[in-house]
Formats: sequence, structure tokens, C-alpha cells
Amino acid sequence: MSDLPIIVAGAGPIGLITALQLRHHGLPVIVLEEDSGLSRDTKAGTILTRTLEVLARTGTVDRVLAQALRVEEVGDLDRATGRPMRTLRTGVIRDDTAYPFMINMPQHHLEPLLAEALEEAAPGALRLQHRLTGLTQHADHVLVEVGTTDGPQTIAGRYILGCDGGRSTVRRLMGAQTEGFSLDSRYMLIDVDLDLDVKNPRDYPYLAYFADAVEWMILIRHPHCWRFLFPLPPGVEEPSIQAVREKILHFVGETDRMEVLQRLSYTVHHRVAGHWRQGRAFLMGDAAHLITPMWALGLNTGVLDANALPWRLAWVERGWAPDTLLDGYEREQRPIAVHGSAEMAEAARRAMGKEATHAEDAMTGDDWGNVMTRCLLGLRLDPTGAGGWSMVKSRREPIRVGDRIPDALLHGPDGRPVRLHRLLDQGFLALHIADARRRPSLPPDMPGLRHALLSRWDAPLDSGLRDRALLDVGDACRAMLGVEEGMVLLIRPDDHLAAIAPMGPGVVEAMYRACLEGGA
Ligand SMILES: Cc1cc2nc3c(=O)[nH]c(=O)nc-3n(C[C@H](O)[C@H](O)[C@H](O)COP(=O)(O)OP(=O)(O)OC[C@H]3O[C@@H](n4cnc5c(N)ncnc54)[C@H](O)[C@@H]3O)c2cc1C
Repeated sequence: MSDLPIIVAGAGPIGLITALQLRHHGLPVIVLEEDSGLSRDTKAGTILTRTLEVLARTGTVDRVLAQALRVEEVGDLDRATGRPMRTLRTGVIRDDTAYPFMINMPQHHLEPLLAEALEEAAPGALRLQHRLTGLTQHADHVLVEVGTTDGPQTIAGRYILGCDGGRSTVRRLMGAQTEGFSLDSRYMLIDVDLDLDVKNPRDYPYLAYFADAVEWMILIRHPHCWRFLFPLPPGVEEPSIQAVREKILHFVGETDRMEVLQRLSYTVHHRVAGHWRQGRAFLMGDAAHLITPMWALGLNTGVLDANALPWRLAWVERGWAPDTLLDGYEREQRPIAVHGSAEMAEAARRAMGKEATHAEDAMTGDDWGNVMTRCLLGLRLDPTGAGGWSMVKSRREPIRVGDRIPDALLHGPDGRPVRLHRLLDQGFLALHIADARRRPSLPPDMPGLRHALLSRWDAPLDSGLRDRALLDVGDACRAMLGVEEGMVLLIRPDDHLAAIAPMGPGVVEAMYRACLEGGA
């Protein structure tokens, strides 16, 4: 493996999470950030369950949860009447994930926690006041030009990952154009400190979407304040502090105190880069896609990129996979940004303005399906490029190639509880579903791939399977997967199902090879 680092441009949330993922997979990394510190702007405010799962992989989730407010109820309300149109309780996904909730936390509180974790994982990797200005690509490395307080520098790396936001320099240097549109109206965001619990109890859900044809409103309870978000129609000026106060009082009624902490208006874009890879350069996060920040799909869609590319780079860098594995990144993630998150966010926006009913498509199904969809757990990637991706889960059905695997609770060889996703932390897992009493034969592990047996029967002590067997109490995991005994699942290090087939000699090896050579 080369000593040259992978260079990440931009220390926003996606750059930081990407760097943490790269370190998790043992790759050297540096992060170049043009500013002298992390952003102090309050931007994204809700972190979805899928993002928490990604943070868990890098060991950062606990410190984030400690500072966040967990959201167990999401309300869709009619603003005119205040009546709930739909209330979603995230408890219905308790069996599917270790984090059956979303969290509210402003982005500028999240970023320092990520930077702190990165400093522990890779001391000195974050280089502030390093502005990427130029890029040249070579057969086995890249050279980036960087402006620093000590003058220009040239830094060599294996790859350059453009996590440098909506005005991405890497995107320009890659010659990628963005396609899409910007909305005429802007969004206004106001953070307010007021008591809606004790003296003026209102009992709003911590995340509440108030639909209205005239002016919709989103209410987000942050650890330190309430956030109000509403549209500013074209040509309408940002309201004065007094007007903001009146608007909020009109909404919540009289309160004993109210302090406006922060207000911000911004233009909403809906644009995706034409290509995300050029040789050793990649686009991620807002550099690749700007998505209407509805249903928290802006930041959280970027986190999907940060979960998708680092393991691929690790497998290629270790010589376990050919370069074609890297092509799968754009092939899988771009449709999600173009058609998935983008359309869901737009549908949600239109539904908020009571403009159309497209959001129904994204809200089909029962409460379980709805919560899975809105927590981003219903995500199915399309490894083969056949068009089978989806972000909507309408009901529980047998697992399909590309699906995120549920983070089922199992019992490991030592009897202790273990989460399925933790078994993927170090690489691919071939999960053989079979009766442990019949002593099925499991192949030897390979670089980047481990085998395990899933059974509701504990493996006999003399079976030779004790250290590879997972006890599935109540057959619950198998039932959740919807898979019969005798099948083997190949699960990728990003928790997505790569392939499924009947168990047999050479089956897993062939699936693993096909996955790596075919781009996953
Ligand atoms: C006001 C506002 C509200 C939002 N609300 C939500 C929301 O509610 N939910 C949601 O999911 N999303 C929301 N978003 C979107 C969300 O903030 C973005 O999707 C998220 O910040 C993307 O992260 P990123 O790391 O890709 O890019 P950024 O956060 O933009 O980070 C890019 C970083 O790259 C640095 N950089 C840029 N150029 C260079 C260079 N040449 N060299 C080195 N460094 C460079 C920048 O200084 C910056 O630190 C909101 C955005 C805004 C602006």
C-alpha cells in the first residue's frame, strides 16, 4: 500500500466523515480546508438514522449523541388548523437499527465533534488555511496546488476527493458541469431561545412539518433552541428582527421570553454534477449534488457518499480489487442524488406547499415503511446499473441485492449480543444461513472477506463452527431478511447486500470476485 495520503479537499461534514472512514479502513489521509476554522454557520439541523449508523462505523456516534436531541416523533401537521395529518413514531424500526431515532443538532455543533475525532484518529491530518487551487493527475498519484499562509505548496497524494461544497474547485478542475435549477424563493431560518415546555407548553414534536398553501413552516427543536424554517417568496426582503419576533409569536402564541439567536436566508439549489469521477479525482457531498434541504436530505445524502467511496479505495489500495471497483461509486450514488434524494426532497417541498401530491409516492406504505424511508434506512443501491435502486420502503419484503442490511441483534460466539453491522466493520461478510446442527462447511476467510454462520441452533461444541457462528434467537434476523435456510448472503462493508445465492462450493468466492471486478 502506498504511503501517499488520500487528499480530501474541504473540512465540511462530508470531508470530515470521509476522512474518518478512510482512517477506519487504515488509509493515510489529509484534509485541506481553506478557512482558518470550521464553519460557524448554522446549516443542516437533522441527522438521520442512516447517518448515525455511518458515524457508528467510525466510532464517533457516541460523542455526537451526547450533544444531540433524539427525535422519536416526526409530525406532519396542517398549519391552518394545527391538526396532525400524520404522526410517525420511530419506535417501529427498533428491530432494524441500533439507533431507532433521528437527532437534531446544528451542523456547526456536529463539525467540531467530527474534527476532534479525526484529530484522535489521525493527528495533524486537518490542515486549516490550505486552499486547493490546482490539480494535475499522474498514473499513480495526484499533485495538488495549495495556497497557504506560508505561500503556495504542492502536495502529492494517491487520490483527491472533492468535498469542497457547492462552489467546488475540484469540480471545476475536473471539468464537471452541474445540471439542475435553483428555486426562485429562498428559505429563511431563525433560531430562537424560548420556553415551550414549562411556562408556555406547546408539545410540538421535536421535528414538525407544518404544511400550508400560503406559507409552510418547519419547526426543529435543537439542543439549545427552537429553529423555524419557512420560505421567502421571490422578491420578498428578509424580515426585520421585529417582524421575525411577531411572526414567531403569531405561530406559537404569547411566551414569557423570546430571544432571536440567529437568522439566515439562503437560496435553494437542486443541481447535480454531470460526472463524479475523473481518473484519481472524485466529487462527494455538496460538490457532487446540491439538494433541496427538505427531509434533511442535503447533508444526509452526502453522508451516503462518505459511506460509499472510502471502502472501495481501501480495497483497491490494498490490491484486493481492480480499479473498476471505483467506477461503482458514481454508478450507485449518482442516481440516488439525481432521482432519489432530489425527487424525495422536491416532493416533500411541494407537499409542504400543498402544491401537488408527489410526496405520496415517497410516503407510501405503513408507518414502518414511512419511518424506514424518512430515516434513510430504506435505501437500495443499484450495484448492477439495472435501474433497481430505491429510497422508498413501503413494507417489509425479502432482502434484495443493493438493500441496506438490517442491523439485527445477534449473539456472538462468546454469547454476548452483537450487532450485524459491527461484523461488517472490518470488511465483507458472507453470512451462511443454515442449521448449525448439520455442521455446514464454511470456506476459509479471504483478504477482506469473513464467513459466519447464522442459525437459531447454537453450534455444537465439536462442530468446528463455534467461533464463526451467530445465534439468531427466535429466528428473528432470518425472518427479517426473508431468506430461507441454505442461502448465503454476501454483504459489503457499507452494509449493502452485494449478492445472494444458494450455499455451495466456490459460490462465495465467485460472488466476491464478481462484485469487486464488476464495480460492486
Ligand atoms: C442555510 C443552510 C441550511 C441547510 N439546511 C439543511 C438541512 O436542514 N438539512 C440538510 O440535510 N442539509 C441542509 N443544508 C445543506 C447542508 O448544509 C450541506 O448539504 C452540507 O453542508 C454539505 O456538506 P459538505 O461537506 O459537502 O460541504 P460544505 O459544508 O459546504 O463544506 C465544504 C468545505 O470545503 C471548504 N472549501 C471550499 N473550497 C475549498 C478549497 N478550494 N480548498 C479547501 N477547502 C475548500 C469550505 O470552506 C467548507 O469548509 C443546508 C445548507 C444551508 C446553506
